[in-house]
Amino acid sequence: MRYFEKVLVANRGEIAIRVMRACRELGIETVAVYSTPDKNALHVKYADEAFFVGEAPPQKSYLNMDRILEIAEMSGAEAVHPGYGFLAENATFAKRVEEEGVTFIGPSWKTIHMMGSKIESKQAMKDAGVPVLPGTEGGVRSIDEAARVADEIGYPIIVKASAGGGGIGMHIVNTPAELEEAIKGSMKIAESAFGDPTVFIEKYLVKPRHIEFQVLADRYGNTLHLYDRECSIQRRHQKLVEEAPCPIMTDELREQMAASAVTVAETSGYQNAGTVEFLYADGNYYFMEMNTRLQVEHTITEMITGIDIVKQQLAVAAGQDLPFDQEDISIRGHAIECRINAEDPLNNFQADPGKIIRYRSPGGPGIRVDSGVHMGYTIPPTYDSMVSKLCAWGQTRMESIERMRRAIYEYVIMGVKTTLPLHHAIMHNREFVRGNTHTHFLQEEHIAQTLGRSLREEEARMQTLAASFRQGKEMAAISAAVNVYINQRRRG
Ligand code: ADP
Repeated sequence: MRYFEKVLVANRGEIAIRVMRACRELGIETVAVYSTPDKNALHVKYADEAFFVGEAPPQKSYLNMDRILEIAEMSGAEAVHPGYGFLAENATFAKRVEEEGVTFIGPSWKTIHMMGSKIESKQAMKDAGVPVLPGTEGGVRSIDEAARVADEIGYPIIVKASAGGGGIGMHIVNTPAELEEAIKGSMKIAESAFGDPTVFIEKYLVKPRHIEFQVLADRYGNTLHLYDRECSIQRRHQKLVEEAPCPIMTDELREQMAASAVTVAETSGYQNAGTVEFLYADGNYYFMEMNTRLQVEHTITEMITGIDIVKQQLAVAAGQDLPFDQEDISIRGHAIECRINAEDPLNNFQADPGKIIRYRSPGGPGIRVDSGVHMGYTIPPTYDSMVSKLCAWGQTRMESIERMRRAIYEYVIMGVKTTLPLHHAIMHNREFVRGNTHTHFLQEEHIAQTLGRSLREEEARMQTLAASFRQGKEMAAISAAVNVYINQRRRG
């Protein structure tokens, strides 16, 4: 089944390629858009057709609705897939696409709009009986009122932007004295980043887990879940390592959380693929938000369920019903994703864009690499710093960890600093192996120390590698690198 003749992918990098891969398998033609620095990017080469969308800044290119709609019309695309980020959760864009008579591959603009407001969605879910964290009813109207609510629920509390995303505009407040400044600071950031200064307060959980459920819904009232993912390992409230399923999940908890996830989707009239995010602590879980799009980490759910989520998105958008029932979906094995970003884990994760001078991606059993880069590719400073998503599947959690370690050994990226050494350290960390993670995992003192040591070892390995490469001894360099790992492993 082709579902569509031609689909425009309004995105770049690995996610544009991911969507085009599904289209290619289905025989659907693809249209890429590209900005000036992306002229020779892989997603442009991969597509059947490509159109220039604008200059480098996102406002002029990947956020340029007028131009993207013009390209949709010019190319004759019947549907638009927004990927994640950029216009993926922009209700105005979804609405305008539909008004042009083109199918938006995602939920309706009304659902996007509702879920785009953390305040509105939280209230709706509370009314539907889904557990939420205590906090202000609606936005903060005055400092006095906020102080009263904060006293009631008890410090620490968190100030969050209602229109927020990407961890932006959040402030943790430990004492009443810090409250006013935090609220004003969050409002200012919220206004400039999202054009909406509304902020709200909720109880801050000190070491929660981030657990989310993948959902899929068609237009005939079938709303299913594709199980859970654990996404607690984060930096700056953004995910770095995800795994599916969640390592501490029990049958009972899964049943409750899955039912809540489906309620969230149904309450919002959800169609297409989405993710319901929860925080979990001490046996309780709380709805945080719903992401109305394909997530970066959908890959690991695909690995444990065997379902191609992007193909289901295309099918559902074309008016098909879901071809399976909840009972047909089961978990097979365990999968982990490491986000490989061009950033320096030893220097506060500062972005390190630039040219990739050596690139060799891993392979072998259970490994999946989704990336938009290649040797000689220059990572532009303008967009996010993700180089690739390295995923490992195993029959057990331990096997997926072992495969991930092995894939990290094989991965060679030179020319830019990456999070690879950090992932190496995490995959060897005892607490991680035990499944003891929470959202402050990377800041824990004892973990930070061991991570620091592994990182320095990794840096040394990279330098040895670089020297061998410079001498043209590529194979020697790779086997030397693998040996360093093997020796390290023998040592400890
Ligand atoms: P965004 O939409 O900006 O990504 P989220 O609401 O999804 O923000 O939260 C992102 C992360 O921020 C969570 O995974 C968690 O680490 C942290 N966080 C958010 N709210 C709370 C809270 N009430 N208590 C503790 N941590 C929180």
